[in-house]
Amino acid sequence: MKVAVRPQRIMVRGNGSYLWDHEGTRYLDFVQGWAVNALGHAPPEIAAALQAQAQMLLTASPAFHNAPQLSFALELTRAAGLAQVHFTNSGAEANEAALKLARKWGRLNRGGAHQVITTQGSFHGRTLALMAASGKPGWDALFPPVMPGFLKVPYGDVAAVAAQIGPETVAVMVEPIQGEAGVVVPPEGYLRDLRRLCDQHGILLICDEVQTGMGRTGTLFAFEHDQVKPDILTLGKGLGGGVPISAVLANERTSCFVPGDQGGTYNGNPLMVAVARSVFAVVSHSEFLATVRARAHYLQQRLGSLCAQRGIGLRGRGLLWALVLPEPTAEAIVARCFADGLLINAPRPNLLRLMPSLRVSEVEIDELARRLVVALDHGAD
Ligand code: PMP
Repeated sequence: MKVAVRPQRIMVRGNGSYLWDHEGTRYLDFVQGWAVNALGHAPPEIAAALQAQAQMLLTASPAFHNAPQLSFALELTRAAGLAQVHFTNSGAEANEAALKLARKWGRLNRGGAHQVITTQGSFHGRTLALMAASGKPGWDALFPPVMPGFLKVPYGDVAAVAAQIGPETVAVMVEPIQGEAGVVVPPEGYLRDLRRLCDQHGILLICDEVQTGMGRTGTLFAFEHDQVKPDILTLGKGLGGGVPISAVLANERTSCFVPGDQGGTYNGNPLMVAVARSVFAVVSHSEFLATVRARAHYLQQRLGSLCAQRGIGLRGRGLLWALVLPEPTAEAIVARCFADGLLINAPRPNLLRLMPSLRVSEVEIDELARRLVVALDHGAD
């Protein structure tokens, strides 16, 4: 089915920050499967974890415990400071679980309150419920009827959230940085203020860290920047470093699922969890995160001077950045970069997004800057 417009190339092989197509053309990859390959292409840790677990147990069904899931549940909940976790297969599935958990909590604790406040421009996934929850322009017209239960407010505006909270409200759901909207960084203290507001009203704070989690912004979780914790946290993308696994975590008071409420054939699949554990062992290391922050600083500086000279805006954190172009030339620049062997992404007509491997080197960042300059200076031709 034609769900995407794809170039006439077949991607066959990857290594670190590089990807090769069927003709042997090499690309410097600053997309990395949409911020998925946290350790770059084909990292040895994942190959080893896959092989070892594939020889041991693929799955015994979610009706049984399995060893990787037990170990990883402990490691991940400890790292997040949350009580429980449920493993799922995609960001959308984790967010669906988060919404179900919030609605159940509202039924048990808040007189059936079920409404979730989300933000304009947000992206939470492509299921019917999450398209309704997301604030992507035009989505509400695609597959009517739109699922009820969501209210949208401008991103970064705490007063707008406060104005919408009523007896039917059960939660506020936000991305700590809006990824698909074009790396929109909220005002300082946004999550902290939302946390305070949710506590005042006795409602839940849900953080969708599918894109920002697992080291992407320089800390293991983006919520750490505001020194607050959400009640419910969702993870995906970098969690599996390239394989489909995601997770929903919740604190003690919110963890109200009972057997039968949630599940899925591949949930907690030992093969995928074993891979996620191998990625976590790397990215959760404080030295690794310090290196991510150092590389992030280097990237920011290189981009900063390049953008300043050309009247281009720059926003982001860690290894998630967007260039805000003065004209809607992003598609043309992405195409030019592609032809030159550089992969970047255009989430909006005037935005270029960069989301490299968390292992990206300074040499690779220099190469990015060189190639970007060429594309930018000729992109509008
Ligand atoms: N939430 C956020 C913040 C995302 O960026 C994405 C994917 N771009 C999703 C949810 C959906 O994840 P998936 O595509 O794995 O369903």
